[in-house]
Amino acid sequence: MAIEPGQGDAPAHYTLLAGEHRLDLNARLGQSLGLTWTSAIACTHCGRATKKSFAQGYCYPCFKTLAQCDTCIVKPETCHFFAGTCREPQWAEQHCFQPHVVYLANSSGLKVGITRKSQLPTRWLDQGAIQALPILEVDTRQQSGFVEVLFKEEVSDRTNWRAMLKGEVEPLDLIAERNRLLARLEGGLARLRERFGADAIHELDATPVELEYPVLEYPRKIVSHNFDKAPDVTGTLLGLKGQYLIFDSGVINLRKFTGYEVEVN
Ligand SMILES: [Zn+2]
Repeated sequence: MAIEPGQGDAPAHYTLLAGEHRLDLNARLGQSLGLTWTSAIACTHCGRATKKSFAQGYCYPCFKTLAQCDTCIVKPETCHFFAGTCREPQWAEQHCFQPHVVYLANSSGLKVGITRKSQLPTRWLDQGAIQALPILEVDTRQQSGFVEVLFKEEVSDRTNWRAMLKGEVEPLDLIAERNRLLARLEGGLARLRERFGADAIHELDATPVELEYPVLEYPRKIVSHNFDKAPDVTGTLLGLKGQYLIFDSGVINLRKFTGYEVEVN
């Protein structure tokens, strides 16, 4: 599924990508939509058929050999490139040794996150954030991991996806939160700059971004659909937020089912 920011005040735009086909999901809001998993899964990296999906879309061999499936992607502070054990040093040079952004977002309350600069604002839309603010830019993914570990002393790095889907999220003053956190973590940031160089971690003077989602009605109670348990998902499409489709019959996280072959009705 591809999510693009809306132009001006327009909500984000959702497109379901199925092979060559493109389905405009915003256009299906308020209408009946059926998704049926055919029981086939193709690895999102190599295209091979796989019985089970690993790390949200990979076959087992890819899961075990690709750098993008290594645990250091989720915990960049454990980067082991300099130990000479990176699974794919060339991939790492293109993806990890690139400027990364540390941001604050409001998806279900205040959270901290990191991403490659080029992944914004997609990353925020994926999380269903209603506000976001880049606060620091760092030279590498590993450095962003160390900064995130520091921020986790003060703020969560998680989204409560149920609260996010229910739309129970109060707007925050992200500039005030940023100033508060930078002041509180000043000592820790100074230590990281000593280690990586004064220029490696620098503050950004950005403006908070507001993100809108196409939602007709938020669910009061969250029921999850799961293709592995029930391959037919149908209902009236009531909304799109984060990686979720919100039906009157329940919600489904499509990211979880990346690589699943699905028939659309
Ligand atoms: Zn594969």
